[in-house]
Amino acid sequence: MAIRKSALMKRLIVTIFSLYFIIAVLVSVVHILFEYKNIRNQIELDLKSTHTSSANSISAAIWNFNSEQVTTLVDGLLTLQFISSVEIHHNTDGLNIVKGSVYNKSSIFYEGPIIYSDGAVDRVMGVLRVTASQSIIIDRIKINVIFIIANAFLKTFFLSIIIFIIGYRIIGKPLDELFRSVSRLDFDDVSQIEKSKIELDEKFFKHKDELTFLILAYNKTLDKLISRTTQRDQARTELEEKNMSLKHSVNEKTLALQEKITELHGMNEKLAILASTDPLTNLLNRRCFFERAKQELSRLKRNNKQAAVVIVDIDFFKVVNDKYGHPAGDAVLTVISKILKNSVRQHDLVSRFGGEEFAIFLSDVDMEKSIMLAERMRKNIAEQQVIYKGDIIKSTASFGLSMLTSDSQDINSVINDADKLLYEAKASGRNNLKY
Ligand code: GH3
Ligand code: MG
Ligand code: MG
Repeated sequence: MAIRKSALMKRLIVTIFSLYFIIAVLVSVVHILFEYKNIRNQIELDLKSTHTSSANSISAAIWNFNSEQVTTLVDGLLTLQFISSVEIHHNTDGLNIVKGSVYNKSSIFYEGPIIYSDGAVDRVMGVLRVTASQSIIIDRIKINVIFIIANAFLKTFFLSIIIFIIGYRIIGKPLDELFRSVSRLDFDDVSQIEKSKIELDEKFFKHKDELTFLILAYNKTLDKLISRTTQRDQARTELEEKNMSLKHSVNEKTLALQEKITELHGMNEKLAILASTDPLTNLLNRRCFFERAKQELSRLKRNNKQAAVVIVDIDFFKVVNDKYGHPAGDAVLTVISKILKNSVRQHDLVSRFGGEEFAIFLSDVDMEKSIMLAERMRKNIAEQQVIYKGDIIKSTASFGLSMLTSDSQDINSVINDADKLLYEAKASGRNNLKY
C-alpha cells in the first residue's frame, strides 16, 4: 500500500482549518451585522443633524412664502451625497414638496417638525423628512466586509501553512521516518536492523511526548530483535556445522557399512559354498544334492523331460586306506571327484554322497544317453592312475543307474533304486554298471 507523504498532517490541518474557517466566517458575519447597525445609527445621526441644521431656514422660507428659496434649500440638501430624497409636508396650506428617489420601507430617514419662531411664538410649519440613499450603507459597509473576509481568509491560509510546517516537523516527519524505517526492515540482516534505528533529534524530541516514547519503544524493540537475530544466526551456524560433521560422520559410517556389507556378502557366499559343498572334493554335499535334485525334478516334470540318478561307490577303498594310508585315500577321492565332474555336462549335479560314495543327477537324458555318460565315468576312473608319494594307485568304481520320468514321485525312491542296482554291480564283480 502506497502512503502519501504527510497525509496524516494534511488531513489534520485541513480538518482543523476547515472548522477554523467556518468559525471565522460566522464571527465575521456577526461582526458585519454589528457594523451594519453602527452604520445605520451613524446615518440616522447624520440625517438628524442635517434636519436640525436646515429646519430653521426652510421654516423661515415657508413663513415668508418664498417657495423659490424652499426649492433652493431642498436642492441644496439633495446635493449631499448621503441624502436620496427630501419631503416637506406643510401643515396649514397643504403644501407638499417631494424631491429625490421614492421612499420605501427599508430606507433610513429622519422626520421632524419644522418650526418658525418670531421670538415670542413657536409655529409648526410642517414636517421635514430626509431619507438616506440605499447605496450609502452598501458603500460604507462594503469596505468593511471585504476587509473582514480577507482577514479571515488570509489568517486561515497563512496559519494553515505555518501550522502545517511546524506540525510536519513535530509529528509528520518523525512519523514518516518511522514508517520508512518499519517498511524497509529486513529481519534476516542484523546490520540492516541496526541501521533502521531512528535517531532522536534533540531539537524536536526534547519534549517527552507520545511520539518520542513510540520511537524509543521502536528502537528498544529493534535492540531485542538484533539480539534475537544474532542468537538465531549463531544457533543456525552451529547447527549447520553440526549438520556438516554429522553428514561427514554418516558418510564415513556408510562407507564402513558398505565395506562390511561387501565383506558380509563375500562371507555369505563362502558360507553358502561351505554349506553346500564338500570341503575335500569341492563337490555338492548330500544335503545340497537333495535340494537341487528336487528342484530339477519338478522342472523336468513341468517340461515332461527324463533324467537319471547314478550312484557310484569306489571298489575296495578300505584297502587303499589300509595299504597307502588315509591321506592317499583322500588324494584318490579328490582325483575321482574330478573325473566324475569332468565326465558329465555342466548342468549335471555331481555330489559326494557318503565316505567314498557319489550321487550324480543327469538332467534331460534318456536311458541311452545316461548309460553312455555312466560308462564314460566308469572307464575314466578305471584308466586313471593316482601317484601318491611314489606309489601308483589304481582304482575302479561300481555304478547303479535308475531313470527318472515325469511320473517319478520323489527323489528318494529313485536313489534307493539306483542304490540297489549298485549292490548288484558290486555283487557281480565290481567295476561295472547296473541299470
Ligand atoms: P566295497 O568294494 O565293498 O565298497 O569295499 P570298500 O572297502 O570300498 O567298502 P567299505 O565300506 O568296507 O569301506 C569304505 C571305506 O572308506 C571305509 C572308510 O575308512 C573309507 N573312507 C570313508 N571316508 C573316507 C575319507 O574321507 N577318506 C579316506 N581316506 N577314507 C574314507
Ligand atoms: Mg566302496
Ligand atoms: Mg561304500
